[in-house]
Amino acid sequence: MKKIMLDYTLVEIRGLLADLPAFRSKQLYKWLNLDAEYSTMSNIALDLRAKLADEYIARPAQIVDVLTAKDGTRKYLFRLSDGNIVEGVSMVYEHGTTLCLSTQVGCRMGCAFCASGRDGLVRNMSSGEMLGEVIAVNKYLGGTCDGRAVTNLVLMGMGEPLDNYDHVLKFIRTVSAPESLNIGQRNISLSTCGLVPEILRLAEEGLGVNLTISLHATTDVTRRKNMPVAKTYSIDRLISAAKYYFDKTGRRVIYEYVLLKGENMSPADAANLARITRGYPSHVNLIMLNASGALKNTACTPAEARAFFCALAEAGVSVTIRRSVGAEIEGACGQLRRKFVGDLTAT
Ligand code: SAH
Repeated sequence: MKKIMLDYTLVEIRGLLADLPAFRSKQLYKWLNLDAEYSTMSNIALDLRAKLADEYIARPAQIVDVLTAKDGTRKYLFRLSDGNIVEGVSMVYEHGTTLCLSTQVGCRMGCAFCASGRDGLVRNMSSGEMLGEVIAVNKYLGGTCDGRAVTNLVLMGMGEPLDNYDHVLKFIRTVSAPESLNIGQRNISLSTCGLVPEILRLAEEGLGVNLTISLHATTDVTRRKNMPVAKTYSIDRLISAAKYYFDKTGRRVIYEYVLLKGENMSPADAANLARITRGYPSHVNLIMLNASGALKNTACTPAEARAFFCALAEAGVSVTIRRSVGAEIEGACGQLRRKFVGDLTAT
């Protein structure tokens, strides 16, 4: 089995290719970060390129399809070297372009509203595959290493990042390193459904990444209905871990809150959210449910979302309704891949 060159840091590549002068490894690493295939690495000797190509994959996440929405949002399908398909989304904001990337093929968290986990976990992605997603999109959007087109990252695509802890940590450290894409850790957000021990561990890593918690309910009873992880960790434990993360990193905690009509939008929920977010820097991001199939009845109207937003704002919660982008290109987690993989199996 060929290995993925981007699974290794520049320092590790120097160790792997010990007979290569240091400047050559650096040139090679630069090419990898530019999404180059071996055939285009013009300053590397042909025989070395042939040798490397026999052993190592240069482009571990290749874009096989792109859908572009009117607002500039793009959805990408990446093919990994074993043929698995994952997805990503780029969104253009005033401050730059954010890429939402996948961290696992599938997911084993089983949240009721999420398409990514419907078929369970296929496998973890490696750090090089995650880096490959960023490198491929940066190139696609006309960026280089010095002039990046992708400026911000959110680990909110397919997968639960903290369920793939070691690879995700290596990815964050690599993608933020000067010799790679140098994306500042403050511009990276990691989103989790709430794996408490891993949040506590992450707090100790000395990273500057933002933590986003998919809360989606204010009582354990409701949360357990839609998120199996809530059976293991109570909201109280989750919030304590989030506060600990803030204490250790100084980063404001963001709560994602998918609006589920008749389930999590009552006046009591607004009061609970005010209590949950009080006393430390935090923010609530309300998300309109991207509903498909059986979930259709659980989606609320914009007016209902607005009413809940106002109730929270009045209770003193720092809150926004997430700008909905790219709905016509099936922006929600796992939806496009399901369609694509479904099409593949149908033919
Ligand atoms: N596993 C991580 C990151 C991936 S999901 C997590 O749970 O945070 C990214 C976000 O999209 C999460 O907040 C998730 O709950 C939300 N999400 C999943 N399915 C959705 C849907 N159908 N509509 C709106 N948001 C959804």
